[in-house]
Parts: sequence; C-alpha cells; structure tokens
Amino acid sequence: MDANSLPPLPQAADLRRLVHFSSSDGRIWLAGHRMLLLHVEALGGLRKELIRTIGAEQTRRVLKRAGYASGTRDAALARQVRPEASPYDQFVVGPQLHMLEGAVQVTPEKFELDLEAGTHHGVFRWDHSWEVETHVRQFGPQDDPVCWMLIGYASGYVSAFMGIPVIYREMQCAACGQDHCLIEGRPLKDWPDGEQLQEDYEADSLLVRIEDLTAELESLRTSLSPSDDLGELIGRSKPFQQAIDLVRKAASTQVTVMLTGETGVGKERFARALHKMSARADKPFIAVNCAGLPHELFESELFGAEKGAYTGANTARPGRFERADGGTLFLDELGELPLAAQAKLLRVLQNGEIERLGSTTVRKVDVRVIAATNVDLDAAVAAGRFRRDLMYRLNVYPIVIPPLRERIEDIEPLANHLLQSFMAQHNKRVAGLTDKALDAMRRYEWPGNVRELENLIERGLIVTPAGQMVDEDALFPLPPGGQRVTVSASGELKQAGPADIHSLFDELQRRGLSLDALEDGLIEEAVARAGGNLSAAARALGITRPQLSYRLQRMKER
Ligand SMILES: [Zn+2]
Repeated sequence: MDANSLPPLPQAADLRRLVHFSSSDGRIWLAGHRMLLLHVEALGGLRKELIRTIGAEQTRRVLKRAGYASGTRDAALARQVRPEASPYDQFVVGPQLHMLEGAVQVTPEKFELDLEAGTHHGVFRWDHSWEVETHVRQFGPQDDPVCWMLIGYASGYVSAFMGIPVIYREMQCAACGQDHCLIEGRPLKDWPDGEQLQEDYEADSLLVRIEDLTAELESLRTSLSPSDDLGELIGRSKPFQQAIDLVRKAASTQVTVMLTGETGVGKERFARALHKMSARADKPFIAVNCAGLPHELFESELFGAEKGAYTGANTARPGRFERADGGTLFLDELGELPLAAQAKLLRVLQNGEIERLGSTTVRKVDVRVIAATNVDLDAAVAAGRFRRDLMYRLNVYPIVIPPLRERIEDIEPLANHLLQSFMAQHNKRVAGLTDKALDAMRRYEWPGNVRELENLIERGLIVTPAGQMVDEDALFPLPPGGQRVTVSASGELKQAGPADIHSLFDELQRRGLSLDALEDGLIEEAVARAGGNLSAAARALGITRPQLSYRLQRMKER
C-alpha cells in the first residue's frame, strides 16, 4: 500500500491513556515502563559531549543501540494495546508512540507487512526530528543523516514487532538540507549490505574502543609537536633553569630519568621536552598514567596481550612498550604501579625484553623510560608497596621539578603565555592581567602548581568582559561570605588568601599546635567525617589516596 491507499492513523487516545504522571512519587509511566521527561537541550548537550569525547562514529553506534532498546520496549505494547486491531493499526502503535514521546512526527508513505511470510517494506516520512534540531543547532548542516536514536528506535521496534531482524535506514535527512527525513525499512536479509548495517547494533567492547582511541590520541599528540624543543616550559628562575639543564644533559644519553615534584608542576611537559631533544624525537612518545589504569588491565596495557588472554581480548594487541619501540615511554604516577607489573617492568629495564600476556614469545624492545611520581618512593619501598631493586634501577637520574611557589618570578611570563593561548582557544580577547591580579598570584601558595594556574587563568578569561583587563577578583573571586575562594587543580573550590592564613596562624599560636599535630588532626578529622572511606577523605583534603595512606602510615610510625 502506498501513501494514497494507506488508511489514516487510528486515534491515539488509547495510547495517551497509557501515560500516567504519578507526581506524588516522582514517576511517569507508559503502561508498565517508567519514562522520563527531560529537556532536549540536556540530551542534546550529552550527545554533543559524547561526540567530542568518543567521536561521531561511536556516538552514532551508542545512540542507535539506545534507540533500538527503546523501540523494542514499545513493540511489546503494540499487541497488548490493540489486540483486536488490523496488523496495520497494531504496527503503527510504534510510530504513534514515537510521536507521543515527542521524538518526531511520523507519516506513513508505504506499508507492506506479512508476519507469517516474514516480509516487510515500509517507508515513513519524519518531520521535526529532535535530533536534527539539536544536531544542526550545534554542528550546522550535515552530509550524513543524524537521526541516530530515532532510526535505532524504528529498527528495534519493527524487529521486535515482527520477531525477525529488520533494518530501517534514513534515505534522506533534514539535517542534510532536505525539508524532511525519509526512512525505509526491510528485513535484514533483503538489504544487500544488511550485515554491515547490522554491525551498528552489535554491542562492541567499549574497552577495546577506548584503547583504540587512546592510541589514536597518542599519535595525534606526538604529531602536534611544539615549535621549539622546550615546548611550553616557560621560566627563567634559577630552580627551574637547573631542572631544564638536567633535562638537556639527559637528552643526549639513554639514561632512565625519574621526574619528581608536586602534583601539577608539569612532569609530562618535561618528559615531552626531553623526548623532543633526544635522538628519538621522530619516534613515538607514549604516556601512561599508572593511577588511571585499573589494576587488572595493567599488564596487558603495558606489555600487550595475545588473543583470548583475558575476557574481552578479541584480538592480539601490542602494549604501550611495543608501541613506544624506538621512542620514549612516560610512566606517570609510578608509585601506583602494582607489584606484579613492577617485576615485569624491571625485566624490560634490565634486558629490553617483554612478553605479551598469554604468550611465551620474548620480544625485544628499545624504549627510553621516563618515570614520574609525586609520592615518596622510599616510603613506598619501606611499606612494601614498591620494589627496592626497581626503585634503584629507575632512580639513576632524578630531576626534581620545583613547585610554582618556589619560582615566583616565573608566574608573570607563565600567566601571560597561558592567557594568550586561552584567548586563541576561546576566540576571545582581553587586554591582559592587572598588576593587582599579578600581585595576588605572586602571593598565592599554588598547591596545584602550574595546572592550577592554568585553571585560574582560563576562568579569569571567561569571566572578564572582552577588551577589559583580567583583575584579581576574576581570578580569586570573593563569595558572598567575603572569604576568598580559588579553584584547585582538580577543579574544587578552596578558600585561600592571606587573611585566612593570618587567622589560621594566630589560632595555631594560641593553641600551641605544631604543624605535625595540625596535619595529624586534620587527617583524623577528614577520615572520621568520611566514615573511614579513605578515598573520600583524601578528596576532602585535596590529596591523592596514596598520599593519604602514606601520611596515615607515617602517623602510626611516629
Ligand atoms: Zn533525519
């Protein structure tokens, strides 16, 4: 049947009756399914972030599957709501629910269905797709269809309705300049490229995808090399220049380098600069954050895995060591490395040999290792969490990167440089930093170091009107209570400023408290308030969990 001979859609009153707003308990029901009313802008924002984070291709797959699940649920309602109706009237429950749910306006144009023979051909017109609306608003006109959740819904609905795999695809989309979208559906077997279309609906291991994306990102980062060897290492102060001097000397050798320093001092920048100055500059620079990897993935990440070595290992994969062959491997937050991986790391450092997980083949790699840590490795060794032999092996050439508060004269050039680069990034111009702002920055303690400075400058740029100068208040805003608040490296708000320090100091004097006693007291209070949850207590104190564990250990030993 085509559009001219198709009967009009039945009244949707029976479907509207299925919707129940149970405001007293905060739930909305569509028959037996809990539904949600949410803002298209919010969902559009989520969609945009997904696209930015995992790319358009992955987002399309994820949203198609979400739509598919939703269509499958609605299909269960079709026969239940209209048990006596014709197959056509039963079938259009889906399109009608899709409209009722606010997704899109659906007009049938062509409809053939034979449930017993398993044949189907449907063409529907879509108007006012929410996905077109939000996608075009955010990204402008498109070359490819964007109604991902909607098309997933159609495929899921009809597949569940018929009990066989059915694929709907967008033949045209309003996001590409047409005045409406047009979809066409057939059983999977009737599409010549059906198998390929079906792939979008197969759940893939997100883990493997993320690994692929990480590898891509690494190679992109490597290709975006800074114009000069020092990249963004800006600073003339003596302690900073001494550290750079050590980097320069190390660059011409193969020595394993250990970078230490507080959080946010720019260890990865130093590592990159070292790589760029070395003979390995045109080979890969691979960074691994040991604190960011789940323990069970450590070995496969670093050393690779053969197919089937662990659940989800569908293909053999090289580890970071193999990918860094000829180049540099940067191991950040080394103190977090599990003991099992430490043994293997020691072997690579000694012999340049690795074995993939699930393999007995020994592979030779030529990798320069740069390690970094902000925990005291001596203490970790004493606590049995770090191998002494590995520490000695890594610690042959330590470079200490000074905290920002010990290089006050570098703050101004750094701040100006950061302001310039954020202006380019946000496409917004301001007239610079006021003296008062620079002065406040020189007085500040900078617990989050350069990373915190970055956060503050970016924030200052955003809140300052275009063309004006960034003032102290834009960097260290005064909340209604009147105490200065600043943003830490991790983005949390913190109270700061000399006034608080004065009163805190006075209080310590009055009570005759030592610095150690104050620290112990604060730690005990944080742990108690967090109900013994060390991660939460560490967050409250603005330190890492390993740092907290270390301090607790030290308290016990005193
Ligand atoms: Zn569309």
